[in-house]
Amino acid sequence: PLSCGIVGLPNVGKSTLFNAITQAGAESANYPFCTIDPNVGVVEVPDERLDKLTEIVKPNRTVPTAFEFVDIAGLVAGASKGEGLGNKFLAHIREVDAIVHVVRCFRDDNITHVAGRVDPLSDIQTINLELILADLDTVEKRMERTRKSMKGGDKKPAQELAVLERLKEALYNDKPARSVELSDEERLVVRDLHLLTMKPVLYAANVSESEAADADNNPFVQQVREFAAAEGAEVVPISARVEAEIAELDGDDKKLFLEELGLAESGLNRLIKAAYKLLGLYTYFTAGVQEVRAWTIRKGTKAPQAAGVIHSDFERGFIRAEVVSYDDLVAAGSMNAVRERGQLRLEGKDYVVQDGDIMHFRFNV
Ligand code: GDP
Repeated sequence: PLSCGIVGLPNVGKSTLFNAITQAGAESANYPFCTIDPNVGVVEVPDERLDKLTEIVKPNRTVPTAFEFVDIAGLVAGASKGEGLGNKFLAHIREVDAIVHVVRCFRDDNITHVAGRVDPLSDIQTINLELILADLDTVEKRMERTRKSMKGGDKKPAQELAVLERLKEALYNDKPARSVELSDEERLVVRDLHLLTMKPVLYAANVSESEAADADNNPFVQQVREFAAAEGAEVVPISARVEAEIAELDGDDKKLFLEELGLAESGLNRLIKAAYKLLGLYTYFTAGVQEVRAWTIRKGTKAPQAAGVIHSDFERGFIRAEVVSYDDLVAAGSMNAVRERGQLRLEGKDYVVQDGDIMHFRFNV
């Protein structure tokens, strides 16, 4: 499955947030393909459509789709030069698909701030600088290799060098690799570099419990919002401490607690949804009387590969898919009604699955 790495300076609230994530954790029996690792937290992706489908189909059980958060603690200034456990942590970041960058926006004199004072923008820059330096190293090494392998008249290395040059230029100016506009073709050239600053990022602004309900009044959060807006990134204000408390409660108690705090939804749910969006993910559903279930795919995935998310046999033996769109099913009120209305489509191997499609796969075994 796809994953999001949680990074940030020490003492900003990463572990508190990560513990809330693992507490809230998904029923692991439902997700045998997920990683079992103390640094990986599997969460269920909240989706109101799944509740609606459950109402319509009345299955024996309902299973949301899952998503992984990886705790990447220990990133400190100097990591790119091997400070702390520097290289190891950078290697972990290389493996995730997106980054949740936790920044400290709460004041508490009892909790030491590594830089001596609460200053989220400077914290962001400290972390970003480490990632940028690591990428610069990667890009320069590749440039050297490409130059060596270059023979007269070879077009490909020259093209590659041109792209690398542009990335280097940006990184030298403290800009992340993702800020460089690349064509699809150029993107392919540098994909195997797995640049850290190429990954999409969102900022989780950790506020104190008392500010959870109106975090946007916190001036630090406003600073983070301004900074993020300039680079087109999303900000999710969250109180890690509140999330840790919420994670210990079940259903009704949770609802009451959220109401008391004046929150419509837990911060964790908002964070999961934002991460899902950040990764450009779609959800499709399977809906049988045994089980109604949500599955995650990347935007642009075709039917056989979408079937492969359920089982590789489904992909290998794919014949066709019966597809109903979510809105059609809800409007019709039942699968039978959808069929009568002629809204059940047969799609082949080139069909690009849409967000909210309800799929039934036909395959050879
Ligand atoms: P990490 O080093 O980034 O993983 O940070 P931790 O999650 O260990 O948090 C560092 C300290 O800050 C812990 O003592 C937390 O209880 C505390 N902390 C986290 N969030 C908040 C908060 O919103 N308000 C206050 N006052 N303390 C917090």
